[in-house]
Amino acid sequence: MKRILVTGASRGIGKAIAQRLKDEGYEVVTHSFKSEGTDLKFDIANREECRRVIDADIAANGPYYGVVLNAGIASDNPFPALEDEQWDNVLRTDLDGFYNVLKPIIMPMISSRIKGRIIALSSISGVVGNRGQVNYSAAKAGVIGAVKALAVELAKRGITVNAVAPGVIETDMIKDMPVEEVKKAIPMRRFGKSEEVAALVSYLVSEEAGYLTRQVISINGGMF
Ligand code: NAD
Repeated sequence: MKRILVTGASRGIGKAIAQRLKDEGYEVVTHSFKSEGTDLKFDIANREECRRVIDADIAANGPYYGVVLNAGIASDNPFPALEDEQWDNVLRTDLDGFYNVLKPIIMPMISSRIKGRIIALSSISGVVGNRGQVNYSAAKAGVIGAVKALAVELAKRGITVNAVAPGVIETDMIKDMPVEEVKKAIPMRRFGKSEEVAALVSYLVSEEAGYLTRQVISINGGMF
């Protein structure tokens, strides 16, 4: 059975992705912070911890066919008010997390000659930039650069690497937003659902999507 790691799968988009892939028959390994009821637990900002937990998991259970790099945080503030800690936390989590989680996974995937699937959650903020999110936009744009470069490196091995860039999806992450105000900026006048993002990810991980790589797929109700 094809093993797929979904990070940040305790709630929100990651939970919906994990459920969808389970329903489709993949062997899904869920991840989150400590004590959130998932299979693996580590802080994606902690390189040593990522390496230790993922190395042990692969040694015991074999290499991954796919990984959905979904775990992430936002910590918003207008730039003049942005604290050093907010910049550091978001970059360490959202951008370093890409490296920290993927690095221990990639060599076992390559040496097992798996035509694997790597999908990273970016954001509309990383594509067009968003006020109050200079840190988050930088991290999510960084993920897009990493995805595109890695896709070129891995293409000849049949491993695909893509980014998904959601607009506003109804999860805990957006609970402090001015709902009606934000909806006015969305042509569809509604937020997206985690299940709608999961449906897109399910296509990207499928064998059928083998010729689709180095892309950023937006899912945003027509925001741009
Ligand atoms: P969420 O806050 O509901 O869930 C985030 C998940 O990531 C949780 O499982 C949490 O435990 C995990 N996580 C966060 N920091 C972690 C860390 N340091 N180590 C381990 N796990 C950690 O978020 P969501 O709305 O479901 O978003 C999922 C992804 O989609 C994120 O990368 C987010 O940036 C991106 N995204 C979300 C939206 C949106 O509107 N909700 C829009 C665009 C992009």
